[in-house]
Amino acid sequence: MDKYQILGIVLFTLILLAENFFPYRKHYKHRMRHYGRNTVLSAVNGLIMGLSGAYITVHVFLWVAENKIGMLNQFEASFVIKAILAFLIFDAWTYFWHRINHVIPFLWRFHRVHHNDPAMDVSTALRFHPIEILLSAIINLGIIAAFGIRLEHLIVYKLIFHTNVFFHHSNVAISDSVDKMLRYIIVTPNMHKVHHSCKQEETDSNFASILSWWDRLFGSYCERDPKSIIFGLDSYMEERWQTVKGLFKLPFAGPCKKKEDNG
Ligand SMILES: [Zn+2]
Ligand SMILES: [Zn+2]
Repeated sequence: MDKYQILGIVLFTLILLAENFFPYRKHYKHRMRHYGRNTVLSAVNGLIMGLSGAYITVHVFLWVAENKIGMLNQFEASFVIKAILAFLIFDAWTYFWHRINHVIPFLWRFHRVHHNDPAMDVSTALRFHPIEILLSAIINLGIIAAFGIRLEHLIVYKLIFHTNVFFHHSNVAISDSVDKMLRYIIVTPNMHKVHHSCKQEETDSNFASILSWWDRLFGSYCERDPKSIIFGLDSYMEERWQTVKGLFKLPFAGPCKKKEDNG
């Protein structure tokens, strides 16, 4: 386990403690089982992706840097300027990739594992099917090469990304006015709650991960009272789709049209 993984576990644990001591929604059923299932899914993903993924990614970074491949390697600028550009490029890309996952039925099959969660807490940030993780990792390699993103840039981006993704999935109680203020810059818990709504037009909104600007800029920003949102997908709320085995099998269950998944 490297120092970044340890940092990730520390951040996750701090947010988990915060949402248990200061919860936004006070009651939801089977909290420990919910944490357990999402964490087991994530651990299996880690094992599948683990070393082979890291090995390939590091080699792509070396190839990009040594051969000065990609947009950011075509001009001179300080580390900070290039890190900011890489951050913006990667965050915009993450927004579009997420949006594409909602549009293409084949990709939605895997992404709906994240959306059939009947509750939202920090562990929802870990709930992804391994094939979705694999596909995005492969496409990210193309983005790294096309834009000449350096390993150091991606480490900075991923640290901020994971911190905010843990935060915006969490059940931490922050006041609605503070949430509204933060939302001018970053994706907040109340903003992302709308994305997990069982109503399809709300599921298809608020795709951003760190900067909320992308949703505002590309017309997918949605604001509503977070207290009355019901999470999940109407078609896949039964217990058989909530077990670890059910989550692995969910992409291969029919139908695959998002409209039908939302009831
Ligand atoms: Zn989504
Ligand atoms: Zn989410």
